[in-house]
Amino acid sequence: MKTTRFIISLFTVSILYVSAAKLPSPVAQAPNSGEAPAPVEEGFEASDESVRPGASAASDFDIALQDSPVSNKWPAEDLKLGQVAGVDIDSRGNVHVFHRGSRVWDQNSFNEDTNRFRLASEGAIKESTHLVLDKKTGTVLQKYGANRFYMPHGLTVDSFDNVWLTDVALHQIFKIAPGKDEPSLTICEAFVPGSDSNHFCKPTSVAVAKGGEFFVADGYCNSRIVKFSADGKYMLEFGKSSNGVYPPPAGTFSVPHSVTLVEDWNLLCVADRENERIQCFSAGLRHDPRALPAGTFIKKADGLGRVYAIDNLNHYLVGVTNAGLTNSKRQLFVVDLESGESRVSEPGLENPHDLAAAEDGTIYVAEIGPNRIVRVHL
Ligand code: ZN
Repeated sequence: MKTTRFIISLFTVSILYVSAAKLPSPVAQAPNSGEAPAPVEEGFEASDESVRPGASAASDFDIALQDSPVSNKWPAEDLKLGQVAGVDIDSRGNVHVFHRGSRVWDQNSFNEDTNRFRLASEGAIKESTHLVLDKKTGTVLQKYGANRFYMPHGLTVDSFDNVWLTDVALHQIFKIAPGKDEPSLTICEAFVPGSDSNHFCKPTSVAVAKGGEFFVADGYCNSRIVKFSADGKYMLEFGKSSNGVYPPPAGTFSVPHSVTLVEDWNLLCVADRENERIQCFSAGLRHDPRALPAGTFIKKADGLGRVYAIDNLNHYLVGVTNAGLTNSKRQLFVVDLESGESRVSEPGLENPHDLAAAEDGTIYVAEIGPNRIVRVHL
C-alpha cells in the first residue's frame, strides 16, 4: 500500500490556534446554551492557556502511518456480524463492537419527512448487538444487547469502562455499566425525534469526560452538540446547520458523526462529516476554571474528505474517511493537533464507519458492507 506524505498548507494554516480577534462571528454568538458565554475578548487571554498545548504536550508517538494493509488474521473466527456501526476499546484493550444483526439501515427504515423509524413494530433486534472481543484473538468474550436495540449506531467506552450506545431508531443514548446488560442511564424519549432537551434526532456519537460529563453528537437530522452532566441532566448545546452555505461557517455542522475529547487540552473535536472537516471546540470542563465556555470554536482542519470517525491518541487525531458523491477516498489519517501536520494511508478499507485507536497504535475499524471489524497498525 502506498503511504502518502500529506502535508498540505491549508491544513497547517487552518488548524493553527486562532486568536480572539480572528474568531469567526458565528462562533462569537455561540454557544446556544443555558450557560451564559463569557465575553470572548475578556476570557480568551486567560483561557487560552488552557487550550494551548505546552512544550510538554509533544508526544513521542510516531505520526508516520506505516504500510498497513488490512489484516485478515483478526478476528480469528467469523463473527457473523450485521452492519458494524460502532467500535471502541476498554481499559484491558478488549474490543467492543455494536452491530445491527439482521437489521439493515436502508431507504425504508425511516420516514424521510418526520425522521421516525418505520419498523418499530418489528421489534428490537433479537441478536446480541454488543459484543466484547478478545484483543489477541478476536474471539467473543461477552455478548450483550439482545432484544433491546432497533438501529445501533455509536459505541463509546469511557475511562471507567462504562459503555455508551446510541440508537438512531430510538433517538436515544444509553449508559451501560461494565458487565451489565440493563442501562443505568437512558437519555431522551424513545422513538420520538426532536431537537429540545429531551429529544434527539438520530444521535450518532458520545464522548465522556473523566468527571462524567458527556457530549452527544446529534446527529443525522439535528446539527448540534449537546452537553450533559454526569447524572444525565441537560446542560447546554451548541452548533447549527450549515444549510448548504459554502464554505460552511465555523460552528455549523452537516452531520456531526463522531466526537472525541482531548481532555487535557479541554477540547472537544467533532467529525463534521458532510462538510469534510474536523472542528474543535472548548469542552468547558468543570475541572478547568480557566476554560472558555463550552462550544467556543478553537480550530479546524478542512478538506479532509468525508470524515466518519475520529479518536484522540496522545494529541493526535486518528480518523477515517469514506467515499461519497465527492472524490473522497477511504483513508486512514493522523493529524498532529499541535503542528497541524497530517498523514494519510489507504490500507484497503472498503466502507469504514467508525474507528478506535489503542495506545500502542493498533487501530480497529468498523465497516458496513462488508460487515466486518478490521485491525490495522500505525
Ligand atoms: Zn453513521
